[in-house]
Amino acid sequence: MLLVVSVPIPFHLPSISSADTEAVVSAMESGWLTSGPNVRKFESRFAKTVGVEHAVAVNSCTAALHVALAACGVGPGDDVIVPTMTFAATAEVVVHLGAAPILVDVDPDTLSIDPNLAAEAITDRTRAIIPVHYGGHPADLSQILDIATSAEMFVIEDAAHAFPASYQGSPIGGIGDVTCFSFYATKTITTGEGGMITTSDAGLASTMRSLSLHGLSDDAWSRHSPGAAWDYAIVRAGYKYNLTDMAAALGLSQLDRAIEFRDQRAAIADQYDDQFAGVPEIRPLVVRDRAGHAWHLYVIRLATDGLTIDRNQFIQVLNAEGIGTSVHYRPLHLHPYYSERIDQSKRYPHATRAFAEIISLPIFPGMTETMVDRVASTVVDIAVNHRR
Ligand SMILES: *Cc1c(COP(=O)(O)O)cnc(C)c1O
Repeated sequence: MLLVVSVPIPFHLPSISSADTEAVVSAMESGWLTSGPNVRKFESRFAKTVGVEHAVAVNSCTAALHVALAACGVGPGDDVIVPTMTFAATAEVVVHLGAAPILVDVDPDTLSIDPNLAAEAITDRTRAIIPVHYGGHPADLSQILDIATSAEMFVIEDAAHAFPASYQGSPIGGIGDVTCFSFYATKTITTGEGGMITTSDAGLASTMRSLSLHGLSDDAWSRHSPGAAWDYAIVRAGYKYNLTDMAAALGLSQLDRAIEFRDQRAAIADQYDDQFAGVPEIRPLVVRDRAGHAWHLYVIRLATDGLTIDRNQFIQVLNAEGIGTSVHYRPLHLHPYYSERIDQSKRYPHATRAFAEIISLPIFPGMTETMVDRVASTVVDIAVNHRR
Protein backbone atom coordinates (compact mmCIF):
# COMPACT_ATOMS: atom_id res chain seq x y z
CA MET A 1 0.00 0.00 0.00
CA LEU A 2 1.28 3.43 -0.90
CA LEU A 3 0.97 5.89 1.91
CA VAL A 4 0.92 9.48 0.74
CA VAL A 5 2.12 11.80 3.47
CA SER A 6 1.99 15.51 2.76
CA VAL A 7 4.94 17.35 4.17
CA PRO A 8 3.83 20.50 6.02
CA ILE A 9 4.42 23.76 4.15
CA PRO A 10 5.59 26.47 6.57
CA PHE A 11 4.45 30.08 6.29
CA HIS A 12 8.05 31.16 5.78
CA LEU A 13 11.55 29.72 5.47
CA PRO A 14 14.61 31.97 5.09
CA SER A 15 16.86 31.20 2.10
CA ILE A 16 20.35 30.76 3.52
CA SER A 17 22.99 29.60 1.03
CA SER A 18 26.47 28.26 1.71
CA ALA A 19 27.79 31.65 0.47
CA ASP A 20 25.74 33.30 3.27
CA THR A 21 27.19 30.95 5.88
CA GLU A 22 30.74 31.43 4.59
CA ALA A 23 30.34 35.23 4.65
CA VAL A 24 29.30 35.16 8.31
CA VAL A 25 32.06 32.72 9.29
CA SER A 26 34.67 34.83 7.56
CA ALA A 27 33.39 37.95 9.36
CA MET A 28 33.74 36.06 12.64
CA GLU A 29 37.24 34.90 11.77
CA SER A 30 38.32 38.43 10.81
CA GLY A 31 38.56 39.40 14.48
CA TRP A 32 36.17 42.36 14.05
CA LEU A 33 32.67 41.47 15.24
CA THR A 34 30.83 44.75 15.86
CA SER A 35 30.17 47.55 13.33
CA GLY A 36 33.17 47.82 11.04
CA PRO A 37 34.18 47.26 7.42
CA ASN A 38 31.25 44.97 6.55
CA VAL A 39 28.72 47.49 7.88
CA ARG A 40 30.30 50.31 5.85
CA LYS A 41 30.27 48.13 2.73
CA PHE A 42 26.66 47.00 3.33
CA GLU A 43 25.56 50.63 3.70
CA SER A 44 27.23 51.81 0.53
CA ARG A 45 26.03 48.85 -1.55
CA PHE A 46 22.50 49.19 -0.23
CA ALA A 47 22.50 52.94 -0.97
CA LYS A 48 23.67 52.25 -4.51
CA THR A 49 21.01 49.56 -4.97
CA VAL A 50 18.14 51.91 -4.09
CA GLY A 51 19.81 54.88 -5.78
CA VAL A 52 20.12 57.13 -2.74
CA GLU A 53 22.99 59.13 -1.29
CA HIS A 54 23.01 57.96 2.34
CA ALA A 55 22.31 54.69 4.12
CA VAL A 56 22.73 54.02 7.84
CA ALA A 57 22.66 50.40 9.03
CA VAL A 58 20.90 49.72 12.34
CA ASN A 59 19.93 46.60 14.28
CA SER A 60 16.20 46.66 13.35
CA CYS A 61 13.60 48.55 11.37
CA THR A 62 12.06 49.55 14.70
CA ALA A 63 15.36 51.26 15.58
CA ALA A 64 15.38 52.84 12.09
CA LEU A 65 11.91 54.33 12.61
CA HIS A 66 12.81 55.54 16.13
CA VAL A 67 16.00 57.25 14.96
CA ALA A 68 14.30 58.72 11.86
CA LEU A 69 11.51 60.31 13.91
CA ALA A 70 13.99 61.62 16.49
CA ALA A 71 16.18 63.13 13.75
CA CYS A 72 13.10 64.85 12.29
CA GLY A 73 12.59 66.47 15.69
CA VAL A 74 9.42 64.58 16.68
CA GLY A 75 8.75 65.02 20.38
CA PRO A 76 6.15 65.80 23.05
CA GLY A 77 3.11 67.65 21.73
CA ASP A 78 3.58 66.37 18.17
CA ASP A 79 1.25 64.14 16.17
CA VAL A 80 2.46 61.49 13.73
CA ILE A 81 0.02 59.94 11.25
CA VAL A 82 0.23 56.14 10.90
CA PRO A 83 -2.06 53.57 9.27
CA THR A 84 -3.98 51.41 11.74
CA MET A 85 -3.23 48.34 9.57
CA THR A 86 0.39 47.85 10.60
CA PHE A 87 2.79 46.17 12.97
CA ALA A 88 3.33 47.43 16.52
CA ALA A 89 6.70 49.02 15.63
CA THR A 90 5.28 51.77 13.39
CA ALA A 91 3.33 53.41 16.21
CA GLU A 92 5.24 52.47 19.38
CA VAL A 93 8.31 54.52 18.42
CA VAL A 94 6.06 57.60 18.17
CA VAL A 95 4.90 56.92 21.74
CA HIS A 96 8.52 56.47 22.93
CA LEU A 97 9.32 60.00 21.72
CA GLY A 98 6.41 61.45 23.71
CA ALA A 99 4.38 62.19 20.57
CA ALA A 100 0.94 60.85 19.65
CA PRO A 101 0.33 58.30 16.89
CA ILE A 102 -2.79 59.33 14.96
CA LEU A 103 -4.30 56.18 13.48
CA VAL A 104 -5.80 56.43 10.00
CA ASP A 105 -7.85 53.92 8.01
CA VAL A 106 -6.56 52.18 4.88
CA ASP A 107 -7.46 51.80 1.22
CA PRO A 108 -9.46 48.53 1.11
CA ASP A 109 -7.82 47.53 -2.22
CA THR A 110 -4.19 47.64 -1.04
CA LEU A 111 -4.44 47.98 2.78
CA SER A 112 -1.98 50.89 2.70
CA ILE A 113 -2.91 54.26 4.24
CA ASP A 114 -5.75 56.17 2.52
CA PRO A 115 -4.17 59.54 1.59
CA ASN A 116 -7.52 61.38 1.71
CA LEU A 117 -8.15 60.24 5.27
CA ALA A 118 -4.54 61.11 6.14
CA ALA A 119 -5.15 64.65 4.85
CA GLU A 120 -8.25 64.93 7.05
CA ALA A 121 -6.22 63.91 10.12
CA ILE A 122 -3.71 66.79 9.77
CA THR A 123 -3.66 69.49 12.46
CA ASP A 124 -1.04 72.11 13.38
CA ARG A 125 0.49 69.47 15.68
CA THR A 126 1.17 67.04 12.80
CA ARG A 127 4.90 66.61 12.32
CA ALA A 128 5.22 63.49 10.18
CA ILE A 129 3.39 60.72 8.37
CA ILE A 130 4.59 57.11 8.22
CA PRO A 131 3.11 55.33 5.20
CA VAL A 132 3.57 51.54 5.34
CA HIS A 133 4.12 49.78 2.01
CA TYR A 134 1.80 46.99 3.03
CA GLY A 135 2.97 43.57 1.85
CA GLY A 136 5.61 45.20 -0.38
CA HIS A 137 3.10 47.11 -2.53
CA PRO A 138 4.05 50.81 -2.42
CA ALA A 139 1.58 53.17 -0.76
CA ASP A 140 0.12 56.06 -2.78
CA LEU A 141 3.28 58.16 -2.44
CA SER A 142 2.54 60.92 -4.93
CA GLN A 143 -0.59 61.95 -3.05
CA ILE A 144 1.15 61.49 0.32
CA LEU A 145 4.10 63.66 -0.77
CA ASP A 146 1.69 66.39 -1.98
CA ILE A 147 -0.13 66.40 1.35
CA ALA A 148 3.15 66.41 3.27
CA THR A 149 4.57 69.32 1.28
CA SER A 150 1.53 71.52 1.85
CA ALA A 151 1.35 70.59 5.56
CA GLU A 152 5.15 70.91 5.98
CA MET A 153 5.55 67.50 7.53
CA PHE A 154 8.09 64.73 7.09
CA VAL A 155 7.39 61.55 5.14
CA ILE A 156 9.08 58.61 6.86
CA GLU A 157 8.38 55.44 4.91
CA ASP A 158 7.98 52.15 6.75
CA ALA A 159 9.47 49.98 4.01
CA ALA A 160 9.86 46.89 6.22
CA HIS A 161 8.12 44.90 3.46
CA ALA A 162 9.35 46.87 0.49
CA PHE A 163 12.84 45.84 -0.56
CA PRO A 164 13.21 45.75 -3.49
CA ALA A 165 10.15 47.73 -4.59
CA SER A 166 9.51 50.77 -6.74
CA TYR A 167 6.90 53.44 -7.23
CA GLN A 168 6.29 54.89 -10.71
CA GLY A 169 9.67 53.46 -11.71
CA SER A 170 11.68 54.92 -8.80
CA PRO A 171 13.11 52.53 -6.21
CA ILE A 172 11.61 52.71 -2.73
CA GLY A 173 14.37 54.18 -0.56
CA GLY A 174 14.94 57.52 -2.25
CA ILE A 175 11.44 58.98 -2.43
CA GLY A 176 10.30 60.23 1.02
CA ASP A 177 12.45 62.19 3.48
CA VAL A 178 13.59 58.97 5.17
CA THR A 179 12.94 55.30 4.36
CA CYS A 180 13.25 52.46 6.89
CA PHE A 181 13.89 48.83 5.88
CA SER A 182 13.82 45.60 7.89
CA PHE A 183 16.11 42.58 7.66
CA TYR A 184 14.21 40.62 10.31
CA ALA A 185 14.26 36.82 9.89
CA THR A 186 11.04 36.67 7.84
CA LYS A 187 11.59 39.73 5.65
CA THR A 188 12.58 39.80 1.95
CA ILE A 189 16.30 39.67 2.75
CA THR A 190 17.56 38.94 6.24
CA THR A 191 20.44 39.57 8.62
CA GLY A 192 18.63 37.70 11.43
CA GLU A 193 17.80 41.04 13.00
CA GLY A 194 18.69 44.29 11.25
CA GLY A 195 17.52 47.37 9.43
CA MET A 196 18.60 50.18 7.12
CA ILE A 197 17.73 53.88 6.99
CA THR A 198 18.07 55.72 3.68
CA THR A 199 17.83 59.42 2.87
CA SER A 200 19.13 61.92 0.37
CA ASP A 201 19.43 64.56 3.12
CA ALA A 202 23.03 64.75 4.39
CA GLY A 203 22.01 66.53 7.61
CA LEU A 204 19.40 63.94 8.53
CA ALA A 205 21.82 61.13 7.65
CA SER A 206 24.47 62.56 9.95
CA THR A 207 22.02 63.03 12.84
CA MET A 208 20.59 59.52 12.40
CA ARG A 209 24.07 57.97 12.32
CA SER A 210 24.98 59.80 15.51
CA LEU A 211 21.69 58.86 17.22
CA SER A 212 22.19 55.22 16.31
CA LEU A 213 25.43 55.08 18.34
CA HIS A 214 25.16 56.87 21.68
CA GLY A 215 25.02 60.34 20.10
CA LEU A 216 28.67 60.27 19.13
CA SER A 217 29.61 63.00 16.71
CA ASP A 218 29.30 61.79 13.15
CA ASP A 219 33.04 61.81 12.52
CA ALA A 220 33.67 59.94 15.78
CA TRP A 221 31.82 57.05 14.21
CA SER A 222 34.91 56.19 12.23
CA ARG A 223 36.60 55.22 15.49
CA HIS A 224 34.30 52.22 15.32
CA SER A 225 36.64 50.69 12.78
CA PRO A 226 39.94 48.91 13.06
CA GLY A 227 42.91 51.09 13.91
CA ALA A 228 40.94 54.26 14.74
CA ALA A 229 41.79 56.80 17.46
CA TRP A 230 40.49 56.36 21.02
CA ASP A 231 38.84 59.76 21.48
CA TYR A 232 35.26 60.76 20.66
CA ALA A 233 32.72 63.49 21.35
CA ILE A 234 29.15 62.93 22.57
CA VAL A 235 26.95 65.61 21.00
CA ARG A 236 23.45 64.33 21.92
CA ALA A 237 21.79 61.58 23.95
CA GLY A 238 21.67 58.70 21.51
CA TYR A 239 20.70 55.06 21.39
CA LYS A 240 22.56 51.76 20.96
CA TYR A 241 21.23 50.66 17.59
CA ASN A 242 24.31 49.75 15.53
CA LEU A 243 24.45 46.60 13.38
CA THR A 244 27.15 43.94 13.89
CA ASP A 245 29.68 43.13 11.18
CA MET A 246 28.54 39.49 11.23
CA ALA A 247 24.98 40.59 10.42
CA ALA A 248 26.25 42.98 7.72
CA ALA A 249 28.25 40.15 6.14
CA LEU A 250 25.02 38.16 5.86
CA GLY A 251 23.26 41.27 4.52
CA LEU A 252 25.87 41.77 1.78
CA SER A 253 25.56 38.15 0.74
CA GLN A 254 21.71 38.29 0.75
CA LEU A 255 21.78 41.56 -1.19
CA ASP A 256 23.43 39.66 -4.08
CA ARG A 257 20.27 37.56 -4.42
CA ALA A 258 17.60 40.19 -3.62
CA ILE A 259 16.38 40.46 -7.23
CA GLU A 260 16.44 36.69 -7.73
CA PHE A 261 14.41 36.28 -4.49
CA ARG A 262 11.94 38.95 -5.63
CA ASP A 263 11.50 37.32 -9.05
CA GLN A 264 10.82 33.98 -7.38
CA ARG A 265 8.20 35.54 -5.10
CA ALA A 266 6.62 37.34 -8.08
CA ALA A 267 6.35 34.01 -9.92
CA ILE A 268 4.65 32.47 -6.87
CA ALA A 269 2.21 35.41 -6.76
CA ASP A 270 1.42 34.90 -10.47
CA GLN A 271 0.71 31.22 -9.88
CA TYR A 272 -1.60 32.04 -6.96
CA ASP A 273 -3.39 34.68 -9.08
CA ASP A 274 -3.96 32.13 -11.86
CA GLN A 275 -5.25 29.47 -9.52
CA PHE A 276 -7.59 31.87 -7.69
CA ALA A 277 -9.00 33.45 -10.87
CA GLY A 278 -12.68 32.56 -11.17
CA VAL A 279 -13.06 31.64 -7.49
CA PRO A 280 -15.24 34.48 -6.19
CA GLU A 281 -14.74 33.62 -2.50
CA ILE A 282 -10.97 34.22 -2.77
CA ARG A 283 -9.95 37.80 -3.51
CA PRO A 284 -6.26 38.67 -3.76
CA LEU A 285 -5.38 42.29 -2.93
CA VAL A 286 -5.30 44.76 -5.83
CA VAL A 287 -1.97 45.59 -7.51
CA ARG A 288 -1.81 49.12 -8.96
CA ASP A 289 -0.14 49.88 -12.30
CA ARG A 290 2.44 52.23 -10.76
CA ALA A 291 3.51 49.61 -8.21
CA GLY A 292 6.79 47.69 -8.47
CA HIS A 293 5.77 45.08 -5.91
CA ALA A 294 8.31 43.44 -3.57
CA TRP A 295 5.85 40.58 -2.88
CA HIS A 296 6.84 40.23 0.76
CA LEU A 297 3.29 39.03 1.44
CA TYR A 298 0.61 37.36 -0.66
CA VAL A 299 -2.65 38.30 1.04
CA ILE A 300 -6.10 37.02 0.14
CA ARG A 301 -9.41 38.34 1.40
CA LEU A 302 -12.19 35.84 1.95
CA ALA A 303 -15.64 36.83 0.72
CA THR A 304 -16.98 35.64 4.07
CA ASP A 305 -20.61 36.42 3.15
CA GLY A 306 -20.41 33.58 0.63
CA LEU A 307 -18.86 31.09 3.07
CA THR A 308 -20.23 29.01 5.96
CA ILE A 309 -16.95 29.36 7.89
CA ASP A 310 -15.17 32.48 9.11
CA ARG A 311 -11.54 33.47 8.58
CA ASN A 312 -10.30 31.81 11.78
CA GLN A 313 -12.02 28.53 10.91
CA PHE A 314 -10.60 28.77 7.39
CA ILE A 315 -7.09 29.06 8.90
CA GLN A 316 -7.78 26.07 11.18
CA VAL A 317 -8.67 23.92 8.16
CA LEU A 318 -5.51 25.08 6.36
CA ASN A 319 -3.46 24.23 9.47
CA ALA A 320 -5.02 20.77 9.61
CA GLU A 321 -3.91 20.32 5.98
CA GLY A 322 -0.35 21.21 7.01
CA ILE A 323 -0.31 24.69 5.51
CA GLY A 324 1.19 27.52 7.52
CA THR A 325 -0.40 30.97 7.27
CA SER A 326 -0.40 34.27 9.11
CA VAL A 327 -2.56 37.38 9.47
CA HIS A 328 -1.08 40.84 8.79
CA TYR A 329 -2.40 42.42 10.93
CA ARG A 330 -4.82 42.78 13.77
CA PRO A 331 -5.15 46.56 13.23
CA LEU A 332 -3.69 48.73 15.99
CA HIS A 333 -7.11 50.17 16.94
CA LEU A 334 -8.19 46.61 17.86
CA HIS A 335 -5.36 46.20 20.40
CA PRO A 336 -6.09 47.14 24.03
CA TYR A 337 -3.26 49.69 24.35
CA TYR A 338 -4.43 51.77 21.39
CA SER A 339 -8.18 51.19 21.73
CA GLU A 340 -8.01 52.63 25.26
CA ARG A 341 -6.22 55.73 23.99
CA ILE A 342 -7.81 56.63 20.67
CA ASP A 343 -10.74 58.94 20.12
CA GLN A 344 -13.65 56.48 20.28
CA SER A 345 -15.66 58.53 17.79
CA LYS A 346 -13.11 57.54 15.14
CA ARG A 347 -13.93 54.43 13.22
CA TYR A 348 -11.79 52.36 10.94
CA PRO A 349 -14.32 50.45 8.83
CA HIS A 350 -11.95 49.33 6.07
CA ALA A 351 -9.24 47.96 8.37
CA THR A 352 -11.83 46.39 10.69
CA ARG A 353 -13.55 44.65 7.79
CA ALA A 354 -10.26 43.56 6.22
CA PHE A 355 -9.07 42.10 9.53
CA ALA A 356 -12.00 39.65 9.50
CA GLU A 357 -11.19 38.53 5.95
CA ILE A 358 -7.41 38.45 5.41
CA ILE A 359 -5.03 35.50 5.30
CA SER A 360 -1.34 35.72 4.33
CA LEU A 361 -0.29 32.63 2.35
CA PRO A 362 3.24 31.17 2.15
CA ILE A 363 5.46 33.05 -0.33
CA PHE A 364 9.21 32.47 -0.06
CA PRO A 365 11.93 31.75 -2.63
CA GLY A 366 12.34 28.06 -1.73
CA MET A 367 8.71 27.24 -2.62
CA THR A 368 8.38 24.91 -5.60
CA GLU A 369 5.53 25.07 -8.13
CA THR A 370 4.18 21.87 -6.56
CA MET A 371 4.12 23.48 -3.11
CA VAL A 372 2.35 26.59 -4.42
CA ASP A 373 -0.11 24.38 -6.28
CA ARG A 374 -0.85 22.45 -3.08
CA VAL A 375 -1.47 25.65 -1.10
CA ALA A 376 -3.65 27.17 -3.83
CA SER A 377 -5.69 24.01 -4.49
CA THR A 378 -6.24 23.49 -0.78
CA VAL A 379 -7.47 27.09 -0.41
CA VAL A 380 -9.80 26.66 -3.41
CA ASP A 381 -11.09 23.30 -2.13
CA ILE A 382 -11.85 24.73 1.30
CA ALA A 383 -13.74 27.64 -0.30
CA VAL A 384 -15.72 25.35 -2.62
CA ASN A 385 -16.53 22.90 0.19
CA HIS A 386 -17.83 25.72 2.40
CA ARG A 387 -19.90 27.66 -0.08
CA ARG A 388 -23.02 29.06 1.46
C1 LIG B 1 8.78 43.80 10.58
C2 LIG B 1 8.15 45.15 10.59
C3 LIG B 1 8.70 46.23 11.32
C4 LIG B 1 9.80 46.06 12.29
O1 LIG B 1 10.94 45.50 11.77
P1 LIG B 1 12.07 44.97 12.78
O2 LIG B 1 13.28 44.90 11.89
O3 LIG B 1 11.62 43.65 13.28
O4 LIG B 1 12.21 45.96 13.85
C5 LIG B 1 8.13 47.48 11.18
N1 LIG B 1 7.06 47.69 10.39
C6 LIG B 1 6.49 46.68 9.69
C7 LIG B 1 5.32 46.97 8.82
C8 LIG B 1 7.01 45.38 9.79
O5 LIG B 1 6.43 44.36 9.13
